[in-house]
Amino acid sequence: MDARVSDIISKVQEGGAIDYDETLYLLALDEASPEATAVRGTANDLVRAKTGNACAMWGQIGIDVYPCEADCQFCSFAKSTTCFTEHVTMPIEDVVARAKEFTKGGDLYGLWLMTMNTYDEDHYLECVKAVREAIPKSTLLFSNIGDTDKEYFEKLKAAGLDGAYHVKRIGEGELTEIPPERREATIRAAHEAGLRIQDCCEPIGADTSNEAIATRLFEIKARNEEYGIHDGSGVMKRNSVPGTRFEGMENEITDMRLALIGAIQVFIMNDQTDIPWFAIHEPNTVSLLSGGNNICAETGFNPRDTAEDTAGHHGLDVPAVRSMFYQAGFKKIVRGDGTEVELTPEYMEAKLAE
Ligand code: SF4
Repeated sequence: MDARVSDIISKVQEGGAIDYDETLYLLALDEASPEATAVRGTANDLVRAKTGNACAMWGQIGIDVYPCEADCQFCSFAKSTTCFTEHVTMPIEDVVARAKEFTKGGDLYGLWLMTMNTYDEDHYLECVKAVREAIPKSTLLFSNIGDTDKEYFEKLKAAGLDGAYHVKRIGEGELTEIPPERREATIRAAHEAGLRIQDCCEPIGADTSNEAIATRLFEIKARNEEYGIHDGSGVMKRNSVPGTRFEGMENEITDMRLALIGAIQVFIMNDQTDIPWFAIHEPNTVSLLSGGNNICAETGFNPRDTAEDTAGHHGLDVPAVRSMFYQAGFKKIVRGDGTEVELTPEYMEAKLAE
């Protein structure tokens, strides 16, 4: 075992967090090395001890699709490369029906309603109102929308929105048409409107430098110090979406690499005891054995998918996510209000029978 990795592991086991240089050192490890295995196992132990071996399930409904002017080069909706030609917005009744389907099992922590760079604000506001009324109070409702201002976030909050997922993505302004400052301003607006904030290190591709990953991970730590991101941080791989600049498996990182990056994030945030949930996207078991404890079911339009409905194509459904957690050995699912569901064999069988 490499002595520096041993020292790092001892430090986090004693409650410390790693610095930028240590992060770069770990990011350079071969994912299949004994050192990487030790890092992943240690992160797994730290997170399961912190949460009592619990996990959190999210769901996402994509409600819009059109050739998007933000032209993010990794996205299946980017105007330069997309196979979607029409502007389609899901009717409110469909959004509500999908929200009910996601939450009928009663163990969803949070639900995102996702739109794109621009969207019909009135329709989105009505969707938030209708979905909030239709789903259990124990499930948090979060936005995943284009840049907007404090006033609109205040309207969404009044309609029942709990928080906002908004991220300055890796390569923002270079791989996208969106200035990074605009993303930052939107995050601040959501916070000032009284919403909870989520952040994530994304999208990570095979060409993404370790410095870019480390920089984003430390920005997320700082975001937590400034705003609090208690409902979860995480890491997300960039999919090699057909037709985009990043088409082809050689552009995509493996689950093992994503799991290592997720474990390193656990080490970075180890001294921030208010962070229990570490999201992994795309969901995979090796990451759930490496500190990840938060994955997502998806339906509707999906910027990482070329199918009109990601359900049954790229996106996992709720039973599949629940099963992945169970098989990874988690003993509890935590809801958005902090209540817990025991993940027992009997519970799994009862859910399969529903
Ligand atoms: S990632 Fe979002 S903002 Fe960028 S092109 Fe896709 S839908 Fe538009």
